[in-house]
Amino acid sequence: MLARHHDPIVAIATAPGRGAVGIVRVSGKGLAALVQALCGRTLKPREATYLPFRDAQGQAIDQGLALYFPGPHSYTGEDVLELQAHGGPVVLQLLLARCLEAGAATDPATGQPCLPGLRVAQPGEFTERAFLNDKIDLAQAEAIADLIDASTEAAARSASRSLTGAFSAEIHTLRDALIHLRMLVEATLDFPEEEIDFLRKADAHGQLSNLQQTLASVMQRARQGALLREGIKVVIAGQPNAGKSSLLNALAGAELAIVTPIAGTTRDKVQQTIQIEGVPLHIIDTAGLRDSEDEVERIGIARAWDEIAGADAVLFLHDLSRQDAMEYIAAEAEIASALAQKLPQTIPVIDVWNKLDRAPAAAAIAAEGAGQAETRRGVWLSARTGEGLDGLRRILLEVAGWQSAPEGLYIARARHIEALRAVSAHLQEAADQLQAQGPALDLLAEELRLAQNALSAITGEFSSDDLLGVIFSSFCIGK
Ligand code: GDP
Repeated sequence: MLARHHDPIVAIATAPGRGAVGIVRVSGKGLAALVQALCGRTLKPREATYLPFRDAQGQAIDQGLALYFPGPHSYTGEDVLELQAHGGPVVLQLLLARCLEAGAATDPATGQPCLPGLRVAQPGEFTERAFLNDKIDLAQAEAIADLIDASTEAAARSASRSLTGAFSAEIHTLRDALIHLRMLVEATLDFPEEEIDFLRKADAHGQLSNLQQTLASVMQRARQGALLREGIKVVIAGQPNAGKSSLLNALAGAELAIVTPIAGTTRDKVQQTIQIEGVPLHIIDTAGLRDSEDEVERIGIARAWDEIAGADAVLFLHDLSRQDAMEYIAAEAEIASALAQKLPQTIPVIDVWNKLDRAPAAAAIAAEGAGQAETRRGVWLSARTGEGLDGLRRILLEVAGWQSAPEGLYIARARHIEALRAVSAHLQEAADQLQAQGPALDLLAEELRLAQNALSAITGEFSSDDLLGVIFSSFCIGK
């Protein structure tokens, strides 16, 4: 474990800006002297005490609640002190600075610094300690970040389930079954004569196929959970006035629209997140898909195309009321060929025929083929009246791979899905070995060992410092 994991740390735990309450949090081993310096008294564990937080001269910086959680019964597993003050940025900065100063100041009782080495925490460092001190496993730690970042209620609820350990419990069940099977196989390695008979009697084959079935079910739910976390990226393309913003508003209107600026995106691309059945859809409006002489606009358009290339689906919006205008139709063909050229073939393009209310003939055709008004590749609707929107929603969920919204989903990440895939591949190799004529038991044992390792990576039983760095650095400071 790196030395930095032993430093005492401090951070403002609440979001920047003004608020009713703001929290400064300290974690370290042995906080008693610091508590005395800041609060002028000792604190009863896990009891809120209202008191002044004092500066070095004994003047109150603010009054508030102090909470002291001696380790290991704390969030990080170390001693934790929480100071709940008024939520102004200056007050909190003063308190933070005061903590650092008090940590470095000499404790009159010992003649030593109150809390040597106290420093400002890195993002996610409190949670990283909780993980390193076995308060939570890695999947639970990730669920904390996912809960904070959740963009829909369903995502928040499933993150909350993962946080309580529901996902980890499934992984442990799989792991235990795997260990059982490994013990069986490895025992036979010692008695090569009876090996095959022994495995047959113990129904190794049945055990393995049960394991594969359980894994498939976990994977299926993890994929759905990942969908809740990541959502899908949908680009709306089409000519000006086709009704792109109207469609976005109509889709967002029925459900809670949450506008989340995604990190790294710039203002030249409009992205909104809406939800359908709790699945976040990040919708990108590409108003500017056209030839342009303007250099700035061209850069914007090039970026828009980059975004489109990374989309999971494209809605190509057509205006039914302008289908008899030659120029309009010609421009449609241009966009269509640009999409065909620039989009990978795997990305579905859904033709959306808008303004059905203004095209009675088309409406009649759509009605005639009732049920066929929507196909995987096309849907007829009116963003204004809302007719046909449900069909579009269904198609989008289908494209996303969303199956239903079963209770008991847990949030999952791409990292988990990859690990589960690796487990599945090793189990399949193992199953092939087991079925082969004269199976190579050492290879079988090796595949099972690799499967177990891949599984354990999810909960972080074996995890490199690099991986931890990647995971925890995406947290907010103070968490
Ligand atoms: P954008 O430029 O593609 O974003 O198009 P807008 O959403 O701004 O819509 C352009 C115009 O078409 C506006 O006047 C909308 O009110 C109108 N419009 C959009 N959808 C419909 C529809 O379904 N029916 C009718 N009649 N008008 C629509």
